This record gives sequence, structure tokens and C-alpha cells, in this order.
Amino acid sequence: MARLVVISNRVADPRKATAAGGLAVALGSALNASGGLWFGWSGTIVEDGAPGEGELHTHQAGRITLATVDLSREDHDSYYLGYSNGVLWPVFHYRLDLADFDAGYIDGYRRVNQLFARKLMPLIRPGDILWIHDYHLIPLAAELRALGCTNHIGFFLHIPLPPPLILAAIPQHEWLMRSLFSYDLVGFQSETDLMHFSRYAQKEAHAEMLDTGHFRAFNRTLRAEAFPIGIDVDEIAALTHADDGREMFERMRDEYSRRRLLLGVERLDYSKGLPQRLKAFRKLLGKYPEHLNSTTLIQIASPSRETVGSYSDLLRELESLCGSINGDYGELDWMPVRYIHRNVARKRLPGLYRVAEVALVTPLRDGMNLVAKEFIAAQDPANPGVLILSRFAGAAEQLQEALLVNPYDADGMAETIHQALRMPLPERQARHQQLLQRVRNFDVHWWRNSFLEALQASGTKD
Ligand code: UDP
Repeated sequence: MARLVVISNRVADPRKATAAGGLAVALGSALNASGGLWFGWSGTIVEDGAPGEGELHTHQAGRITLATVDLSREDHDSYYLGYSNGVLWPVFHYRLDLADFDAGYIDGYRRVNQLFARKLMPLIRPGDILWIHDYHLIPLAAELRALGCTNHIGFFLHIPLPPPLILAAIPQHEWLMRSLFSYDLVGFQSETDLMHFSRYAQKEAHAEMLDTGHFRAFNRTLRAEAFPIGIDVDEIAALTHADDGREMFERMRDEYSRRRLLLGVERLDYSKGLPQRLKAFRKLLGKYPEHLNSTTLIQIASPSRETVGSYSDLLRELESLCGSINGDYGELDWMPVRYIHRNVARKRLPGLYRVAEVALVTPLRDGMNLVAKEFIAAQDPANPGVLILSRFAGAAEQLQEALLVNPYDADGMAETIHQALRMPLPERQARHQQLLQRVRNFDVHWWRNSFLEALQASGTKD
């Protein structure tokens, strides 16, 4: 078996992988099987460090070598906060209005990718296969090729890929897309993302379509395919029944015994459609008084990227919306919205999922959305909750038995919440059964294995 080398912005220690989630577990077990290497940023910012420089640290975690590099303050701010999260994240989520095209960021982005390539190259052995993850590292394969790397290299984009004309707003879009052609395999979350890539490659890069899934441009051939990421279903089921999950379930069930619970769980991010969801909930309370004094929305919004400006604006908007809904509709003994701006430990979430009657997963745009899948896996099949899912989440391509909504349509979303709260048990069971089957068939192990098989089969066709 070839040795696997995983490269991602952050590296999870597989010994603590359950805290980081199914992805870390799945990658950790593949790395363990091949005695692999996981490479990325150490998480350390060196305040007065020289740009483009960073110390390499290596640790052994069982059969896995963890190799991490420090970043200087200047590199971190331009590569991570600036280009990755101030340009690529908003544009790839279709939010040109929030992008900050500061000309200085791209230099830091290139510098860090070059630094990673320089530090990684001596650690690579002939025959290794390399799997690079996400938008922080799009040009990494090109930098490695420039240093002479001929190994098979795959890339997986965890976030959406927008249509060509949105992508073209990024001043360096041609360079970014050209960089993708240094990979042998590029994986996307959904068929929609793949279609956007195919249209861009043919129209803007004049790529030739060779056969299904193969594109030729810039003297290289790559295969592109959709590999929708999944969860570890058994892990979520086990967490649901473990002490923390049960304790959370029982406490919430007792506390809210007179209420019907709606639940939203996400990082506080403008892609998640939080203000739109709260406005839909307010419409529900205004239009259907039967939900007054009976239905509570628990909204977990865990802190995220708070040093990026658009995130603090969103925080203020949410606080104001929650305050006005609670002020307008609340009673002395009933708060319509319970808004929690803190992270909830992963091991406690499944208990919360199980107690909720309805999950609201209504992003304006999302690569996949794992919360939707985790909610399904944590339900009691005899009495399952209902999933309301945005048609703009990558997960919607697979989870068609959810109640699909347009998150921009507050009235339509209010109607769907009303429908979910009235859905008869047999319909809930039938929908849940089909959803669970799909989440199980396309779990995180399926995702990892199908990507790695395709990568191993792909040749370097220079
Ligand atoms: N999560 C968590 N605690 C929280 C909020 C989220 O552990 O307070 C986890 C959640 O269980 C899920 C992940 O964070 O596994 C979020 O993944 P998703 O794909 O839904 O969204 P992302 O944050 O990657 O955009």
C-alpha cells in the first residue's frame, strides 16, 4: 500500500480525533493504515517572524507523523485572514459583496504555499500519494511540481465552487484555476460544483473534455469528480447513547417538557443564513399563534473568525434580531429564541439533536453541511425529528426527503416550519428511514475510500 500524505491548513492529532470530528477520524485511520504523514500549520503565530519563514516541528503519533510549520504574523494575516477568509471564502460562497480584494493578500497566500512546499518536499518519498485539502492550499501542487514532485497529488475542495462569472471576479482567478491543473484528481462536494468547474475549464481555460471526468489544459490532464463528504454514522449513534449525549438529551427533555423544540447548530458565519432563519421564525409566530408559548428555537452559533470584520457585523445583527423577537413575543415564562454564542462540545451535540423535533439547516450556500447528516444519524427511528434543509446546501443533492426550502423566502420557510411541526408520525418515519439509508451508504469511509481509489488510479499524464 502506498504511503498517504495528507496536507491541510490545520492538523488534527489522531489521538484526540473524536474531538475534531468524523473527518479527522477517517483521515487518521487511513494514515494509520499506511503509516502516513499529516502536514499543515502548527497553529503558532510568530509575532516578529520573517515572512515566508517558519520552523518545522515533527511529532510521532502512533504510526502517523505529524509535521507542522509556524507562521509569521504577517503571513498568517495575509494568507489566512486576508486571502483565504477575506477573498476565497466569501467569493466561493457567492458573496462578492463581502470580499476584500486587498492587493497585499495574494503575496502572503503565495508565500505560505511556497513555504509549505519547501518544508514538505524533503519529507516526501517516491510512491507516496498526496491528498491536499481545501481553499487555503489551491496552489500547493503547482509549487510542489515546481520543486520536482512527480507523485500522484489529489485535491478536495470542502467549500462550494461558484459559477464561472462569480469566480472571475477574483483578480487571480486564472492563476488559481491553472494551479488546479497541477493535480491528478480534483474532488468537489456536489455535482453542481463539478458542473461549475467543467464550465469554467471549457469556457475560460479552453480545456478539452477527454472522456467522462477528464480535462486537458495547460499541457496536463486531470480528473474531476464529485465526492460528497459523509459522517461516521456509527460514531454519532454511539455518542447519542454515551453518557454526555444521554445527559444532554434527558436534561433538555425535562427542561422543555412543555415546549416543542426547533434547533439550529452552526459556526457563526454569514453563509449559514442565520438572520434569514430568525426572520422566518418571527413570521411563524406572527402568522400561527398556536406556536406562541409552545415552540422554542434553540440556536447555537459557535464563535468563528471573529477578527474578520464581516463576522462582527453579523454578531451584532443576530443579537438585535433575537432581542427583538424575544421582546415582541416572549412571556415571563417563555423565551421564543434561546441564542447561545458558544461552542457546544461535539460529544454533547447528538443528545441535543435527538431531543429536537425540527432541525433548521438553512444556509444561503454551504459546501455540504455535516450538521444535517449528524441530525439524521442521532434520531430515534421510532419517533424521528424533521430536517428542514436549504436547497443551497451541498447536502440537498443527496437528502431529497428532507423538507427543502429557499432560505431567502421567509414566508415560505415559515410555512415549512409549520408543516414540519404538524407532520404525522408515519411520514416522519418514512422520510427518516430513507435519509438515514443514504447517510449510511455515503458515509465518511465511503468518501475517503472512493477518493483515494480514484487518486491511485489516476496517472500523471504530463
Ligand atoms: N460543531 C460542534 N459544536 C458546535 C457547532 C458545531 O462540534 O457548537 C460541529 C458539528 O457537529 C459539525 C461541524 O462542527 O461536525 C460543522 O460542520 P458543518 O459541515 O455543518 O459546517 P462548517 O462549520 O464546516 O461550515
